[in-house]
Amino acid sequence: MLDIERIWKDFPILGHTVYDKPLVYFDNAATTQKPKEVVEKIRDNYYNVNANIHRGVHFLSQAATEAHEEARREVQRFLNARHAHEIIFTRGTTEAINLIASSFTDACMSPGDEVIISEMEHHSNIVPWQIQAARKGIALKVIPITEKGELSLETYRNLFSERTRLVSVAHVSNVLGTINPVKEIIEIAHQHNVPVLLDGAQAVPHTKVDVQDLDVEFYAFSAHKIYGPTGIGVLYGKEEWLDKLPPYQGGGEMIATVTFGKTVFNELPFKFEAGTPDYIGSTALAEALRYVNRLGIEEIAAYEHELLRYATERIKTIHPIRIFGEAPHKSGVLSFLLGDIHHYDTGMLLDHMGIAVRTGHHCAQPLMKALGVEGTVRASFAFYNTKAEIDTFIAGLERVQSMFKPK
Ligand code: PMP
Repeated sequence: MLDIERIWKDFPILGHTVYDKPLVYFDNAATTQKPKEVVEKIRDNYYNVNANIHRGVHFLSQAATEAHEEARREVQRFLNARHAHEIIFTRGTTEAINLIASSFTDACMSPGDEVIISEMEHHSNIVPWQIQAARKGIALKVIPITEKGELSLETYRNLFSERTRLVSVAHVSNVLGTINPVKEIIEIAHQHNVPVLLDGAQAVPHTKVDVQDLDVEFYAFSAHKIYGPTGIGVLYGKEEWLDKLPPYQGGGEMIATVTFGKTVFNELPFKFEAGTPDYIGSTALAEALRYVNRLGIEEIAAYEHELLRYATERIKTIHPIRIFGEAPHKSGVLSFLLGDIHHYDTGMLLDHMGIAVRTGHHCAQPLMKALGVEGTVRASFAFYNTKAEIDTFIAGLERVQSMFKPK
């Protein structure tokens, strides 16, 4: 069982007030708050271990290099990757997907080849492929969603053709909360000899991810969504695939030798890490992962599941309410509309009650189109949230509703 009172002491921001109301932070799918350990790690690194890493012969550079490489090993253990060099540090999920879109298309795709994505993708798993479609003439095939907000696996099976080269889908939807049946999705792709990229931005903070067990080729996530710092993320790739792909960017760190005639690229993982890496961010991310490990990802998942169950039960007492995403396997994301009250109005009024939710299209405009709405209100939970906060939120929604009742 999680000790929420103790956990709150680790996150000073949770005790803040906004507009003189206690903050209720339900925008965790956008970004999470950071425990003291993570912030302290950043401060400590700058004060005590700051020097540019790799190639430095001096003490500080070697200490910083060792801390960065240990952070890579922490991520490796967290994802259960086979090798540390299968962990590439990127700026985030977005850059990780762009890296694969660019390098994979260059190495493995010809005009007319196809990538399968889904209707519930974040723009960061749509637009990079469209850019490649314009550059290289590749085509996108889209798995539709069902009424409940699940992927239609029947249609998915039928999307494969001779030209399918990659499947790239979200592990967990940032709007619907749906936890996709990724093992099955991967198995089906493998029956066609097609590799899979999973966008794990909304999955790693809430469910156990084991890349070997999934047998997934590529996996992307962002540190800031798992209680770590902004500006850093991870691309996991199976060694044999990363070896096949060309670098995404050129510069320092990613080379073995350079002459004006020819450059030999560095080995993994450095081939994909051009320029000075975020060695402060990597160690802070490792600290965040250690924090999550101490609580236990299974305990976190069970607690958040109970929060979602409670919030869903309570929100259904409000009429009229429309909930978007009612898959049986969901993470702690609740997207809804309160009657015909505009999502911005709901969000702004809740804000004045101290309640932070997200409104709009959530970087998933094609999904909004499929749902037939312009946007939704989204409450998203983390392990530091409580049922008492959900009660405040529900009372807030009732107030919003009463403000819009005809007098
Ligand atoms: N994919 C999903 C499912 C997301 O929720 C997000 C962030 N909202 C991203 C990708 C992009 O993450 P980042 O902005 O950290 O690169």
